[in-house]
Amino acid sequence: MFKTSLLRSDTVLNQHSYYEASVQREAARPVLDQSIQADVVVVGGGFAGLSAAIELADRGMDVVVLEAERVGFGASGRNGGQAIVGFASGQAPFEQQLGREDARRVWDMSLEAIGIIRDRIQRFGIACDWVPGYLYAADSPRKARQLLEDLEAQARDYGLSCDVATGPDVARLIASDRYHAAAYENTSGHLHPLKYALGLAQAAQSLGVRLYEGTPALSMTHTPEGVTLHTPKGAVQAGFAVLAGNCMLPEISPQLAKPLHSRIMPVGTYIIGTAPIDPALCRRLIPSNAAVCDNNFVLDYFRFSADHRMLFGGRVSYTTMTPPRLKAVMRDRMVRIFPALEGVPVDYVWGGFVDISMNRAPDFGRLSPHVYYLQGFSGHGVAATGLAGRLVAEAIAGQASRFDVFTRIRHTPFPGGPLLRTPALAMGMLWYRLKDALG
Ligand SMILES: Cc1cc2nc3c(=O)[nH]c(=O)nc-3n(C[C@H](O)[C@H](O)[C@H](O)COP(=O)(O)OP(=O)(O)OC[C@H]3O[C@@H](n4cnc5c(N)ncnc54)[C@H](O)[C@@H]3O)c2cc1C
Repeated sequence: MFKTSLLRSDTVLNQHSYYEASVQREAARPVLDQSIQADVVVVGGGFAGLSAAIELADRGMDVVVLEAERVGFGASGRNGGQAIVGFASGQAPFEQQLGREDARRVWDMSLEAIGIIRDRIQRFGIACDWVPGYLYAADSPRKARQLLEDLEAQARDYGLSCDVATGPDVARLIASDRYHAAAYENTSGHLHPLKYALGLAQAAQSLGVRLYEGTPALSMTHTPEGVTLHTPKGAVQAGFAVLAGNCMLPEISPQLAKPLHSRIMPVGTYIIGTAPIDPALCRRLIPSNAAVCDNNFVLDYFRFSADHRMLFGGRVSYTTMTPPRLKAVMRDRMVRIFPALEGVPVDYVWGGFVDISMNRAPDFGRLSPHVYYLQGFSGHGVAATGLAGRLVAEAIAGQASRFDVFTRIRHTPFPGGPLLRTPALAMGMLWYRLKDALG
């Protein structure tokens, strides 16, 4: 029951995506219909799987990617496009569990993750509308105090300084009465995620990676040399497998996902895309053209697209059900921030699922010496997935020290199993929503 609804809901959610409407996809790549061999087989053609494929191919390995739908069908092709330094968890789990030195390494790797995007855009000529700039915003005095404290700690401990504004000064960073504090930095940035995903797929192929679409990996058997992944019409024998299937892995292959799925929870998040807006108004509302995100638990995240649409994300669902009146509710949230957008038509509404881990830190590891997995990006994966791909490739190539910094993070399963954990989480989250609402 749970299984079917998530996959169906995910497919429907992608039908009205601005990103899909603004790219010209190539003809579908072939379905795997025979038995083949490779050094590494990657499950999932999202940012994580494609990044792993590129990094493995760069290290001389023969790589096959299996994608159940189309490349970029999952979260990678529909997200807010905000490539942000750090991780969804903040630095706390790393500092508490790994100590200062390794927490610092993790932070530095998050900067590397942004560098990976910029390098790939340049190296492979990926036209994906990259814009540097990110704005942190707080919509209550309490949230403003919290933001300032967090940024101070970030500057002190990790050296990321921001241009901070409070009170009336906020207006120079964002033209909205709603915010009590805002802070700008230009290490992070934003991009068109589907263009980037399609560019990564082409880049992987240019390096010799074989990519199959419409090819779900259904099950895995272990062999003395490694693993065999079975698809409906074929199989891949490989020395190593990398599982990068995100929330859809349990839907498509319960067998592959069994050891993993209780460690992540699929949470729906949604975006609207307006009709194009006068560019002068865009510049007035967000002069830096940065991506913006508030620091609420259920957060609003938004930015302008290259063709001057407001892409406004927020609203979450802890069940697999799409929230009612989504377009109207999201539009109202947007207009509360920018009254000037009252009356601008909403052309698109879509969404997808993020793979949150209990502590919001990414969950990388091994199921056996031959099987690696990458998950738990917790809604903060645009940049971190690129890093994940690099780290898993290093580990498979015999240099696991950086990958293993992450495998030392403890991840606890969500209680209650697939049927009970969703209502339990929904109840828990009500408390945080209430706190957001109380300011
Ligand atoms: C609406 C939305 C907004 C977001 N906004 C942001 C943002 O602004 N900034 C940010 O940093 N992060 C954001 N995220 C999160 C970010 O998009 C993800 O963390 C990231 O894209 C995950 O990449 P991935 O490769 O792990 O998974 P995906 O992109 O989901 O790719 C997994 C792929 O694996 C395939 N697959 C699954 N199982 C199998 C199988 N058995 N066989 C073959 N293929 C399989 C799926 O079809 C899918 O294409 C957002 C996510 C959503 C949904």
